[in-house]
Amino acid sequence: MNTKTGLNTGDLEGSSVFWNERVRRLVPYMPGEQIRKAGIIKLNTNENPYPPSPKVIEAIKAVEGEALRLYPDPACTAFREAVAKQRDVKPEQVFAGNGSDEVLAFAFGAFFTPGCLDSGLSAPDNPLFFPDVTYSFYPVYANLWRTPFKEIPVRGDFSICADDYRGAKNGVVFPNPNAPTGIALSLRDVAGMAKMCAAQNKVLIVDEAYQAFGAESCVPLINENPGLLSVHTLSKSASLAGLRAGFAIGRRPLIEALERMRDSFNSYTMDVVAQAAAAAAVLDSEYYDEINRRVVKTRERAAAELSALGFSNLPSSANFIFTKPPPPLSAACLYALLRENGILTRYFDKSRVREYLRVSIGRDSDMDKFLEVCGSTRFAR
Ligand code: PMP
Repeated sequence: MNTKTGLNTGDLEGSSVFWNERVRRLVPYMPGEQIRKAGIIKLNTNENPYPPSPKVIEAIKAVEGEALRLYPDPACTAFREAVAKQRDVKPEQVFAGNGSDEVLAFAFGAFFTPGCLDSGLSAPDNPLFFPDVTYSFYPVYANLWRTPFKEIPVRGDFSICADDYRGAKNGVVFPNPNAPTGIALSLRDVAGMAKMCAAQNKVLIVDEAYQAFGAESCVPLINENPGLLSVHTLSKSASLAGLRAGFAIGRRPLIEALERMRDSFNSYTMDVVAQAAAAAAVLDSEYYDEINRRVVKTRERAAAELSALGFSNLPSSANFIFTKPPPPLSAACLYALLRENGILTRYFDKSRVREYLRVSIGRDSDMDKFLEVCGSTRFAR
């Protein structure tokens, strides 16, 4: 009770009497920090260091006020047609969403069977499989949709072994390349997993958020694999994290399931401006191939320089490096030191990965400053 107002504020220890059971048991995702201070070097959320294509900015400027008066196209036709053209699929095989996190949330809800409500989330019956070291939103979505899940250990070298997923009876999800390791799985292994899931009438979601930086896309496998869904974002390779645009490619029944989820939630997830900009981005592959080639070149240089400083890097096919500082320097200390120097990176205080730091690839000048701080620790060691 608030003594001044006499109202029951509803606050209990860390929750509220107004919360229902669903919100009470949510375990939300913790995004990386989004500090907007001038001079900060942001290597913590895998954004692209280069600006979006000038054609994207033109498309945004060309949106007229009148277009905003009306609701957007719920089918996101222009964006889906652009994706279809670039990826050599049919527009009806493309689902568009407000960032790939939203697409993933719908996909988890649509394809993975929830556990028995009474048996809790640890129910061993038919869990969804994903790697133990992976994108930390997956357990959040599984909890949201009450889907039991099993975390399959990545191997000692942090690689995903396709054979370890043989027992999956409720589908599989993983990023290719994996995050935060950056390690890619071959298309042959992805195809094997897709066949294995389809044999159980279950879906394999391949989250291709970082695919453009070095992994083979599974999109060419879609037509022969009815249970394969490839999920993409424009946040990383298209420099549009602030726009919120993502898409999925799969056979028609999978796309229809995602549309059913969306239209039971919010028919207009992508606004007029985002649809126009996303279509323009997807069509300007020439620009993006060039900037992403630069990101990969910088990644290779930074990885070589880290190795020369005694760091151990996992082999990255993404726009980040997962790196372990040489002892006695701990990743937690290096994270703090970098932060003091205005450089943000991502540290996960979790078993198996707490010796590593995830460093997004910035411009060459950003990486020089990052490497300079790493190098300065040599004298302290
Ligand atoms: N998948 C992976 C593996 C990611 O790292 C991210 C970014 N945090 C996403 C999906 C989501 O990207 P967005 O929602 O920005 O499209």
